[in-house]
Amino acid sequence: MPRFGATWTVTLLLVVVLGGTFLFCEYLIYFPTIFQCSWPVVSHGRGGNDVDGPRGGGGGGGGGDASEPVRAMVLSDTHLLGAVGGHWFDKLRREWQMERAFQTALWLLKPEIVFILGDIFDEGKWSSQKHWEDDVRRFHRMFRHSPDTELVVLVGNHDIGFHYEMDWFKLQRFEKVFNASSTRIVTKKGVNFLLVNSVALHGDGCPICQSVEKELLRLSKDLNCSLQHYPLYRVSDASCTGQDAAPAEERHLLFREKYDVLSKEASQRLLQWFRPRLILSGHTHSGCEVLHENKYVEISVPSFSWRNRNNPSFILASVTSQHHSLSKCFLPEESTVIGVYCSAGACLLLLLLLHCLCLKGLLQCLSLCLLGKHKSL
Ligand SMILES: [Zn+2]
Ligand SMILES: [Zn+2]
Repeated sequence: MPRFGATWTVTLLLVVVLGGTFLFCEYLIYFPTIFQCSWPVVSHGRGGNDVDGPRGGGGGGGGGDASEPVRAMVLSDTHLLGAVGGHWFDKLRREWQMERAFQTALWLLKPEIVFILGDIFDEGKWSSQKHWEDDVRRFHRMFRHSPDTELVVLVGNHDIGFHYEMDWFKLQRFEKVFNASSTRIVTKKGVNFLLVNSVALHGDGCPICQSVEKELLRLSKDLNCSLQHYPLYRVSDASCTGQDAAPAEERHLLFREKYDVLSKEASQRLLQWFRPRLILSGHTHSGCEVLHENKYVEISVPSFSWRNRNNPSFILASVTSQHHSLSKCFLPEESTVIGVYCSAGACLLLLLLLHCLCLKGLLQCLSLCLLGKHKSL
């Protein structure tokens, strides 16, 4: 009878530990992590540019600007795996992680507008119509949102192919799904966000490039925050710092124009046309802050997928028509989750071992008692 009770207790403990660990790692962990992030306070008088660590704080002194900032969340490079290159488990896990992180962030932070800076899909550049539709369906499920939040998606090289691979069919397929032209201005509370199709900005006069440049020139009259997939030209990531900069061994690798970054020519043209007060870009999958020509700040937004990094993150931007302030919100680290699973596994093994030892001890004790009784008779 007591043996039966002990087995039940151990089974119950196993279920509780296993279930609790799973619930924590796959669902609850996102809440405390994202709860630590908050919208940065716009400090007036200068273009505030906090890009480290989740915090509020900042200026406010003499703040007479009554305009309410736009709360914009910016993430990049979600790379939803496709049918050809993606393993089903990798796909399932990454998509679940991104869905939970995104939905928790929406619930806790309530952004008014969300920008995804391209490379939404991993295989948009070659996927068949059937696979493309399946990828799009999963994207809409993962990044579902209420009507209070606007979701704006930019095009990346993995969505329509590198410059030499893209064609009108792939571009229009993308634009149709996301219901907008890939180069345009989105205005929210008087703040202009310029969306640039940077895949078509290599200045070689290709038909798509010509039409994108024509459109950009038309839009260049206003003051903008520029959002694009490719970073503006920079030599390498050597000057990047922070916990999500590229690994030290990769930081000094030279970037190739039109492949890793925009060409020098296209970058200069963008700066001259728009003089953007802030540039946000993706593609490198790592974080970086770059100052162009000593006045134009560019932030490289790291990948949102755990497939590309151990510590994905997104940017929280508070933007008024004159000022802006940024903060970075880190998501749970993959190594932490693996650590929790391993610890739980070790605890379970220990529990089973103890249970087996106890059982063995009990049996031995029982047989000794019976033997003793037998002898005394
Ligand atoms: Zn990417
Ligand atoms: Zn890319």
